[in-house]
Amino acid sequence: MNQNGNMSHPDKQTRHKVAIIGAGLTGLTAAIRLAEQGVQVHLFEASTKAGGRTRSFYEKQVDCLCDNGPHLLVGAYQATSKLLIDCNVAHHITWQPNLQLPLWHQQRGTFAFKPKAWLPIQLALLNAASALPGHGKSSAIAMIKLASTFRDKMHENYTVKAWIMHISMPQLLIDDLIEPLCLGAMNEHIDTANALSFRQVLRESFSSHQQARLGWFNKPLDKALIQPLSEQAEKLGVSIHTRSSIRSLQVEHKHDTNNPHIDIQGHSFDSAIIALPAYATDRLLGQNPTCETRVICNIHLWFDQQFTFPSPFIGGLGTTGQWFFDISSQMIDPPHQQGALRHLCAVISADQQNIDDLTLVQIIRDEIRLIANNQTLNPVHYRIIREKRATVLVRQQEIGQVLPDALIDASERPKPGQLPATIESAVQRGEKAALLCLSRLKL
Ligand SMILES: Cc1cc2nc3c(=O)[nH]c(=O)nc-3n(C[C@H](O)[C@H](O)[C@H](O)COP(=O)(O)OP(=O)(O)OC[C@H]3O[C@@H](n4cnc5c(N)ncnc54)[C@H](O)[C@@H]3O)c2cc1C
Repeated sequence: MNQNGNMSHPDKQTRHKVAIIGAGLTGLTAAIRLAEQGVQVHLFEASTKAGGRTRSFYEKQVDCLCDNGPHLLVGAYQATSKLLIDCNVAHHITWQPNLQLPLWHQQRGTFAFKPKAWLPIQLALLNAASALPGHGKSSAIAMIKLASTFRDKMHENYTVKAWIMHISMPQLLIDDLIEPLCLGAMNEHIDTANALSFRQVLRESFSSHQQARLGWFNKPLDKALIQPLSEQAEKLGVSIHTRSSIRSLQVEHKHDTNNPHIDIQGHSFDSAIIALPAYATDRLLGQNPTCETRVICNIHLWFDQQFTFPSPFIGGLGTTGQWFFDISSQMIDPPHQQGALRHLCAVISADQQNIDDLTLVQIIRDEIRLIANNQTLNPVHYRIIREKRATVLVRQQEIGQVLPDALIDASERPKPGQLPATIESAVQRGEKAALLCLSRLKL
């Protein structure tokens, strides 16, 4: 048993054999939870290593292990927290003591949206909104109205824009808070983002605002998350097969049993879990594509100058970069292990601007100069990572083909009211798929 009482050894291995396709967070979570119950798990990953969209790469020029993009976590990510505790790596996240959202605006400088934990939620929101520079009574009232609609009935296709128009929210509050939060959480602009899901994000982030806070990994994703989860899976007996892209599945009906088996690459499994983004699942099952995706653009810059940056991350208002992450200050590894240079990363969610690389680097450099109040800053190196299909958008889904019981679809396909594509939704999907698989195997 591990510290938390979960079975942690393949001693009680059953004869049941399950395949999981995709070793991102969803697949790794499902693998760990099934292996804890003694199931023989084979995890198939197309890439050379596990991690999927939470992965790191080595940037040789600056001798630095670097993430595809910075990932923020919300205090309400309970399934993720529990998984990290079970793998003994909860300390790989640095949490804010209380929720605060640092923001920067060229004229108004640096400030923060900071709901006070000791106030009741309505008062905390009112107080935090009216304390924002340039805001007054109208923002405070709009915040209260917003919170009072948290439990109202809402149509599944309602957009965030329609929701906030309905409560006559002042434009400044939309620009300062709603649009940056919506882009950050949903990777979609307010005009099209689903209101039910965004409301769910706000409710989870603010409702128990005494515990509300944001967190970030204090090591690169590979070290903080993927290696520990892969090691835990392997300790439990999971076989991880990298460079194994699964292109087809056969459902076999054996004569000696009522239960169909799944054939993958010539091996027979009692069950298989598909842990892919929806578009990859559609391809695997030969279905028409059923989902929309959005890009996230990450502009990594390295500096050889020392300078002060206002906080570990900050939202830029009226800037091209939407969120700026001071990666060096987020990491706890000694500088020689994370590269000797100062590393910042700017993020543009739902990026549709098609700005060429050099221009983009100059724009972001100039914005960092303004935020850091240092006109001499010049990056010595940059890397732009455009994650073309960073997230699958929240949409009502057409009913796809009905799968046999032995095949479980855990793909990222968020529906209205569900969490958008996030770390937490990946972990939740992995856990749900593992539970369903166990119940179908009658374990
Ligand atoms: C740049 C960026 C920033 C983000 N920021 C945040 C954030 O701040 N907070 C947050 O909560 N979330 C964030 N997310 C979202 C989060 O990373 C994802 O929702 C989550 O990692 C999805 O995990 P997954 O396992 O479902 O899918 P994936 O990570 O995509 O894993 C699927 C795996 O399947 C493999 N695969 C694909 N096809 C096959 C095949 N045919 N056979 C075998 N293997 C296959 C892939 O190689 C991949 O490893 C961000 C995502 C990106 C890209």
